[in-house]
Amino acid sequence: MADVLFTNVRIFDGGGEAPFTGDVLVQGNRIARVVKTGFGARSQPVAGARTIDGAGAFLMPGMVEAHTHFSWNDQPSLDAIQRMPPEEHILWCAQVAERYLDMGWTSCVGAACAKPRLDVVIRNAINDGTIVGPRYLAASQEITVPGGLGDTTQPHLPQSEFAFGAVVSGAEEMRRCVRTFAKWGVDSLKINLSGESITGMSSEMSQFTSEEVRVCVEEAKAWGKRVAAHARSTWSIKECVRQGIEVIYHASFTDEEALDMLEAHKTEHFIAPGLAWLINTCHNASQWGLTPEVTRRMGYHRELEAAVESMKAMRKRGIRILPGGDYGFAWTPHGTNAKDLEYFVKYVGMSTMEALLSATAWGGPMMRMGKVLGYIREGYLADILLIDGDPLADITVLQDKSRILAVMKDGEFHRAPEMHAAARPLSVSPMTRWAA
Ligand SMILES: [Zn+2]
Repeated sequence: MADVLFTNVRIFDGGGEAPFTGDVLVQGNRIARVVKTGFGARSQPVAGARTIDGAGAFLMPGMVEAHTHFSWNDQPSLDAIQRMPPEEHILWCAQVAERYLDMGWTSCVGAACAKPRLDVVIRNAINDGTIVGPRYLAASQEITVPGGLGDTTQPHLPQSEFAFGAVVSGAEEMRRCVRTFAKWGVDSLKINLSGESITGMSSEMSQFTSEEVRVCVEEAKAWGKRVAAHARSTWSIKECVRQGIEVIYHASFTDEEALDMLEAHKTEHFIAPGLAWLINTCHNASQWGLTPEVTRRMGYHRELEAAVESMKAMRKRGIRILPGGDYGFAWTPHGTNAKDLEYFVKYVGMSTMEALLSATAWGGPMMRMGKVLGYIREGYLADILLIDGDPLADITVLQDKSRILAVMKDGEFHRAPEMHAAARPLSVSPMTRWAA
């Protein structure tokens, strides 16, 4: 692995300060040096390191996706996802994993898979170099109850082969389920605490008893696993705080008490609302029969309004809101995930700086790697993006693969920059970037 010296780059280091012009030296898989130089200053070459003149490009930490489902196959229903045979399904996951890295997501947090071991196998294959993909935390299937979100079993078909989720009823079945996924080697357990209106069970309904949830958390902790919850209803959000469920997905329907509880425990939770699902289900899914009229009847327009209000309130209270969520449906295809950052700015009122930090600085602890991931700082792992443009001026540049000039993960280029300082026209000149 050759060492790399990036010179003449605008460095966004993840600390929340305005970017500065400088050099970044990568040695092995770590960031060895970060130096401020001022634009146009000459950098000294480093012996043994390949020098890359960034010509004023924007250098930032690799992004972290907080709610990833590699095994969702860009289809319009849970049924269509689960019915993909395992052989095709694992190939699909491998392809999708690479797509995330292509789009600058150097880490992803698995948020459930469609067959018991898909996530674990993909994580292991990435880690041992068999396939190319981001750093990955592997999840279980969605744990649900009979009749709940993810129970797609039918009375005339064998249950185990045809269930989208892992269906349990009662504390002892929950215990067995968590232990089984721990045996497969997952990093986290995913539990569906609330419904999901498109499946016929309202997002405002809750489906487990507190005792079942307690056993899930207790067993997960005993095996050193994290718990993440699909939690749209108010009860389910509160239950996450009461029971210490670290990762809360969606969190649409809050009340004052739920917000107070989250605020009081804000260092213990991550929220990934997955606004893309709500926004696109409401407005961009007509092609699949989900016209705005249909999704309004389902309750999604009301939920989108509630979710936006909840996220605004959480942002004001300093609760951590992270990008990611339910990409992998037909109307939220994989790879378009950076739309979440645009939605944070447009819908939630975040500044572009806050949106960037949500994908970087907060991504480190979300990956449980807060001391080594999420910043451009000496000693941190070299997960680095080089962007043509300024995401602080226009957050949507991160949605455009052609603007992501380079992707480095763990000190190695997944995509090396093809740049020659003089030849590559900049979309914005370095001087006007400063003014912005
Ligand atoms: Zn999800």
